[in-house]
Order: sequence, then structure tokens, then C-alpha cells
Amino acid sequence: MRLSGATRVAGVVGRPIVHSMSPILHNAWLAAAGIDGVYVPFSTEPGRFRAFAESLRGGSVAGLNVTLPFKGEALALADEATFRAASAQAANVLVFREDGTILADNTDGLGMLGAFAEQAPGFDAAAGPVVILGAGGAARGAAAAFVEAGCPQVRIVNRTLLKAQEIAEPLGAVALSLNEAAAAFEGAVAVVNATSAGLSGSAALDVPLEATPPGAVVMDMVYKPLKTPFLAQAEGLGRRTVDGLAMLIGQAVPSFEYFYGRPPPKDVDVRALAIAALGL
Ligand code: NAP
Repeated sequence: MRLSGATRVAGVVGRPIVHSMSPILHNAWLAAAGIDGVYVPFSTEPGRFRAFAESLRGGSVAGLNVTLPFKGEALALADEATFRAASAQAANVLVFREDGTILADNTDGLGMLGAFAEQAPGFDAAAGPVVILGAGGAARGAAAAFVEAGCPQVRIVNRTLLKAQEIAEPLGAVALSLNEAAAAFEGAVAVVNATSAGLSGSAALDVPLEATPPGAVVMDMVYKPLKTPFLAQAEGLGRRTVDGLAMLIGQAVPSFEYFYGRPPPKDVDVRALAIAALGL
């Protein structure tokens, strides 16, 4: 990598940040496209995030991806937010414009829809109800993306019903508790696991996927392991599946466009790079 006085700088901020895949993806794309740019990780103390982001106003850094625990704070400090970020109540992208203003977006939902397009070709979010399992930040972004994509009914199913109700209400979605999952699955065109259950070392989510229609597409946002027990169960039932790594790469694509002004090159196998880096 050659840096110059004109190198365009972007990065990712979070705490912890050491396991972030984003520097691997973005720097591989930058190298392949021959862009004079760099993408770096920033680990900021929680109490200093706002001061850090404010200091970048004016475009000394083109933009930042934002990860845990700063997504809510990132949205709050921006001057303008997309519908997606406002609905998700969280931003994973901050763009520092030269006029000093900050735009917040949330590309997690776009990444999820991109993953469906890639791994379940022909999937139509507007064709029927969608079920989201979980009611954390990822579920909120997913619900907003499905609403924006024209889904006729988003059903949010969570262990803690109150959290599902909080997300569902502003989006006009339906909230159900985890023990109502079978009813929620009826007629669904997609089921998305947006809980953290199934992460390496944690217990798998126990839901009756057999209650989904045969044509339903099943997605897991968890990508370590790549084939989670949840996806294995869905595959065993003959359902089409979508994995969390495709979403991770999918959210990075519009981020790259924001930071470097063009789409990432298509001829780099960033999935293989991520699989190697994650030891999957
Ligand atoms: P979060 O805010 O901590 O929310 C976690 C959710 O999981 C809550 O709804 C929680 O339910 C539920 N949950 C946890 N353990 C459970 C269990 N054993 N049984 C049932 N429900 C359980 O987390 P998040 O930020 O939304 O992230 C959720 C997952 O998505 C994480 O695994 C994260 O790595 C993944 N993710 C992936 C991508 C990607 O690009 N692939 C992007 C974003 C997030 P309660 O409300 O009842 O506690």
C-alpha cells in the first residue's frame, strides 16, 4: 500500500475493535481498485466517542463505520439521518462532509437485503410476512429495511416481549413472544435470526422452523460459525438459507461507496478473505 498527501482516509470505530472484519474488506477493495485510500480501525474509550467524531467534522476523515457500543450515539450527533438510520435508531455509517455537517446512515439492513438477493435469488420481501427473531439493534435495522422494502407485515418475535413491542410500535410491525414463534412462522416468506443465540459457544435458538412454509427463506445474522445450528436445521427441512457473512459484506458495499465515491470492485473474493481471517 502506498500512501500520499492525497490519500483518502476512512475507518471503523468501536470498542472492542480488534476483531472487526471491515479493515480487511475495505483495504482489499482499495488495493484491487488502485484507489489512493486507506481504511483504519479506531478504538475509542466510550466516554470520548462523541468528542472523537466531532473532531472529524469537515472531512479530514471521509467517513466512519460505527460498531458496538456507539451506534446510537453516532445517530444522535449527526445533523442529518437517512430513514433507515432514523427507523433503526442506530447508525453504522457517518459521512463527514466538507461543509462540516455529518450524515448518518444504517447500511446493516441493506446488507441483509443484499445477502438475500445474492444467496436466495428471486426472493421478494414484498411477497408476504417476514419474521424477525430478536429485538436488539440488529433486529431494529432489519425490521426497518423490510418495511422500506415494502414487506406487508413484519413480525418481531423476542424472548422479552416488551422489547419487541418497543421496536414494533413505531414501524407498524407486530410483536410476539418467543413461545408464539410457530404462529408467527405461518405464511412467512422469510425468517431472520437477529438474536445472538447460536454464536460459537452459545446455545442454539430453539424454534419450530418446521412451521415455516416450504418456500420460506431462512437467514441467520450470526456468521461464526458460518453454518449455524439454526441454518443447519433450516437446510435439513429443505428451506433456502442465507448466511450472516453475506450480510457483513453487504453492509460494507454502500459504506465503501460513501467513503471512496465508487462501488467496490467485483473481482476480489472478499468472502474468501473473511472466511480465512475468521478461521471458518
Ligand atoms: P443485542 O442488541 O445484544 O440483541 C440481542 C438479542 O438476542 C435480544 O433480542 C435478546 O433477547 C436475544 N437473545 C440473546 N440470547 C438469546 C437466547 N438464548 N434465546 C433467545 N433470544 C436471545 O444484539 P444485536 O446487536 O442486535 O446483534 C444480534 C446478533 O446479530 C449478534 O449475533 C450480532 O453478531 C449479529 N449481527 C450480525 C451482523 C452481520 O453483518 N452479519 C450485523 C449486526 C449484528 P432479549 O431481548 O430477550 O434479551
